[in-house]
Amino acid sequence: MNNQTIIVVGAGLAGSEAAWQLAEKGFHVQLYEMRPNKQTGAHISDKFGELVCSNSLGSNMPDRAAGVLKSELRKLNSLLMKIADETALPAGGALAVDRDLFAARITEQLSNHSNIEIFREEVTKITENPTIIASGPLTSNTLNKAISEISNQDHLYFYDAIAPIVYADSIDMSIAFSASRYERGLKEEGDYINCPFTKEQYLAFIHELINAERIQLRPFEREIEDGVDAGPKKFFEGCLPVEVLANRNIQALAYGPLRPVGLFDPRSDQKPYAVLQLRQDNLAGDLYNIVGFQTNLTFKEQKRVFRLIPGLNNARFARYGQMHRNTFINSPVLLEPTLKFKNKPQLFFAGQITGVEGYVGNIATGLIAAINLARLINDEPLLELPQTTMLGALLHYITHANSRDFQPMKANFGILPPLEKKIRSKNDRYAMYSKRANIDFENFTQIHRI
Ligand SMILES: Cc1cc2nc3c(=O)[nH]c(=O)nc-3n(C[C@H](O)[C@H](O)[C@H](O)COP(=O)(O)OP(=O)(O)OC[C@H]3O[C@@H](n4cnc5c(N)ncnc54)[C@H](O)[C@@H]3O)c2cc1C
Repeated sequence: MNNQTIIVVGAGLAGSEAAWQLAEKGFHVQLYEMRPNKQTGAHISDKFGELVCSNSLGSNMPDRAAGVLKSELRKLNSLLMKIADETALPAGGALAVDRDLFAARITEQLSNHSNIEIFREEVTKITENPTIIASGPLTSNTLNKAISEISNQDHLYFYDAIAPIVYADSIDMSIAFSASRYERGLKEEGDYINCPFTKEQYLAFIHELINAERIQLRPFEREIEDGVDAGPKKFFEGCLPVEVLANRNIQALAYGPLRPVGLFDPRSDQKPYAVLQLRQDNLAGDLYNIVGFQTNLTFKEQKRVFRLIPGLNNARFARYGQMHRNTFINSPVLLEPTLKFKNKPQLFFAGQITGVEGYVGNIATGLIAAINLARLINDEPLLELPQTTMLGALLHYITHANSRDFQPMKANFGILPPLEKKIRSKNDRYAMYSKRANIDFENFTQIHRI
């Protein structure tokens, strides 16, 4: 056994994977989990690796982004992927698990590992010991403060609602137009894609929006809605779900996120009644974020209602909007793509707190943080995965995105570098992204013997 002791904070998805990987490499791991003594508000058990919401880990298909990520994790001998496969339920092309069995097996494996020492305690300080912080989107307040202090940031990033992202090629550009405010004329590439509403379209849209079904809030989230637990209240006001804003006043959106000021529809040279703006979300330019459209509608309703927006009638969603307390650090400023914290020699972050979204992405960051912390201790160079792999692309995204409006990102093909040749068919394009990712991943793991 390696004499070095490593601290892992949080036995959720990322922390459990990280602790097991390090223990298997012979390190003595001290795993801290505050549940059940202190609950998060979303977890309901004392089990490690508890899935807080859906029991689906997303697509298992080899030519889907989530499927590629899963195959990369399996190649890296991920414990949680192995347990997910063992506890899988029939779910078509997706990997859904028996959530109780999944969490019970993880808890059992970690509890029985001779190199893992478990502490059911809240961590409130960050020491100089080698550490992985994987305390998740519902990190306790005291630890939040400690992280803020070492980050030299006023606050961590609390976003209560996030806006949907759509695929660029699903926006109808015969209706939408590219332009920035106060610029006239049709541009090949404007900073924004704009969806113009007539008055009738706007009123019909608002009617559907405010009457659409919302996701039921949990008690702790209701507190957030009241502004009690959201840090500075104005911050929360700036992030109000669009349906809540629309419900206050029928014109609220026309004067808010849909304000048409400075925008002229180049086809009529008229100012539209209202305009929805979409902002490019990735380097490749194939993902667009719906500006100011944080929402808590059910996913089904988002698809139905947002497709009423002129130009988005056939929109495909890369990510739906959602609402929950979400603590994540400003990774583009604070982390290296190896998940090492820039300002402390032996500190790593993993899981949703890094800004990676989704169960499997979070497991993956736990695994990479463990590999790299082990390499750091063993005086080996840290590993940066190729950007053409799904995991490499995710880590590159969270550490290179625009730090001013950084928001979590899940595995998707839009964050991979473009293919050498343009492929029109979506299925062929996805197959090619997957093939390239597989080849590059295999080569990388062989060269580095991981
Ligand atoms: C309400 C909600 C619903 C979600 N639904 C989905 C979904 O359906 N699908 C999906 O893919 N993703 C979902 N996510 C996003 C994300 O994938 C999950 O939150 C995922 O569990 C994050 O993994 P993690 O390891 O980063 O954090 P977690 O799994 O939350 O683990 C963090 C652990 O750290 C512990 N902890 C926190 N602070 C301390 C401390 N100071 N000391 C000791 N322990 C501490 C917590 O108790 C927790 O066990 C959801 C998130 C939330 C908040």
